[in-house]
Amino acid sequence: PTAFPLPVPAIPTAPVTAELRDALRAIVGEKGFIEDEHGKQPFVTDWRGLLVGGAGAVIRPGNTEEVSKVVRLCHDHGVAIVPQGGNTGLMGAATPWPAHTGIVLSLGRMNRVLDVDPVGYAMTVEAGCVLQTLQETAAAHDRFLPLSLGAEGSCMIGGNLSTNAGGVQVLRYGNARNLVFGLEVVLPNGDVWNGLRALKKDNTGYDLKHLFMGAEGTLGIITKAVLKLWPAPKDVATAWLAVRDPRAALEILSEAHAASEDNVGSCELLSRAAVDLVMRHIPGVQDPLRADTPWYLLLEWSSSRPRQDGADGMSEKLEQFLADQLEAGRVVDAVIAQTVSQSRNMWRIREAMAEASRAEGPGISYDMSVAISRIPEFIDKGLKAVLDILPSIRPYPLGHIGDGNLHFSFMGPIGMDQQTLNQYTAAITRAVNDLITSMGGSISAEHGIGIEKLDELNHYRSKTELDIMRTIKRALDPQNIMNPGKVLRV
Ligand code: FAD
Repeated sequence: PTAFPLPVPAIPTAPVTAELRDALRAIVGEKGFIEDEHGKQPFVTDWRGLLVGGAGAVIRPGNTEEVSKVVRLCHDHGVAIVPQGGNTGLMGAATPWPAHTGIVLSLGRMNRVLDVDPVGYAMTVEAGCVLQTLQETAAAHDRFLPLSLGAEGSCMIGGNLSTNAGGVQVLRYGNARNLVFGLEVVLPNGDVWNGLRALKKDNTGYDLKHLFMGAEGTLGIITKAVLKLWPAPKDVATAWLAVRDPRAALEILSEAHAASEDNVGSCELLSRAAVDLVMRHIPGVQDPLRADTPWYLLLEWSSSRPRQDGADGMSEKLEQFLADQLEAGRVVDAVIAQTVSQSRNMWRIREAMAEASRAEGPGISYDMSVAISRIPEFIDKGLKAVLDILPSIRPYPLGHIGDGNLHFSFMGPIGMDQQTLNQYTAAITRAVNDLITSMGGSISAEHGIGIEKLDELNHYRSKTELDIMRTIKRALDPQNIMNPGKVLRV
């Protein structure tokens, strides 16, 4: 793409002058400094390849002290900073605006695990650690880091915390902000706030760490975190269910909590169209049931108690549960993974969804939430509202049903290009977001606001709420240099 497909706000920002460039290079060294166009390209382009911004330079500090010096220098020169982790965010929050003449500050070189404390169930890490590496580190110590999402091979923990990422284990463990004991943050003036406390209890005034989580890099740069760990799962059973409808899916989940003895790990809803989308674009994935029902559930039970000889494990309990649900008419057909590779295949279907939709072409997706019990009502009303506007659009809803969070997604009509689809997008977005709001829901359940939903946040949040957010932003970043023009218009 050559054009930026969104309105670009006027944000006054100073350029990286020759003098500043030399000073930045002196702080981070040659391997931390990128200014050639080719080298900058991956840092100024978003994951979907839809947004391409600009940057005077990409700076990759090696430690907190370097981050602090870089930020202080930028602060003193009024130069804007776009913090970036793995650059997998879906709202354009890590992508600089086209007119951005400041820096992108990438945390990728700060990728050390500083401490693992299996007894205290805690792990201290730098912000640029890739999520999957941290999951593996925890597993190597017989512990579990529950944050898990499709981008885990490249997203970084600083980005996960800054977006308060969700993923497929929220049902049991909560989203990213629930997995944190403490943070270290470089503030927009270069000061370092050391909140790296591994304390379960700490009621000493405002809980500052929560300000920075979900702030999408607008209030400061997370440089380190103390993460919470859990016992490693030892007995896991994964099942793929064809279900009667979304209401039945919710009833199944509601019964599963007690039947599994509180061991439900994940519960993901997928429409047939979503499964077909993955089958079309992702090689090597098998359809577990080849059923032709409109709705499926991916249900996983896991226990940290190893399987006992002679006693029923998770698989047997899940099998009995599915038989009961079949009899109750909620489940149409089901299969339990017999091998690790069968379970991986089921998960691949769910996790390859973003890749598959990118390959499919033009589309729209709403990352929304309502109260869990209202999901079926939302699906019915939402589909009707969208199909009334564009009857040939192709819905493929899916999502974290146990969190009340759907990715309410649509492929464009066959043969329709992005530009033509864009002519319908504003009306569809208004209809969907009005419905979400009328049902007391959220227009962004886990992906954040970035630049994609700036106008929507402004439209749907109250003046009081927006005023509080702006007051916090102005107090911490009076010059508006920290990821300006993202989340809020200041
Ligand atoms: P980036 O994209 O680099 O940055 C995201 C935001 O955080 C930006 O505002 C950036 O400025 C800021 N930021 C990054 N690092 C820092 C830091 N150290 N300090 C301050 N600010 C910082 N998201 C979900 O919630 N759930 C999912 O299930 C999910 N699945 C996904 C599947 C795929 C295939 C893809 C591509 C994305 C998915 N996402 C999902 C979105 C995305 O992966 C998450 O938002 C992720 O947490 C972003 O991490 P990142 O390191 O890539 O951050």
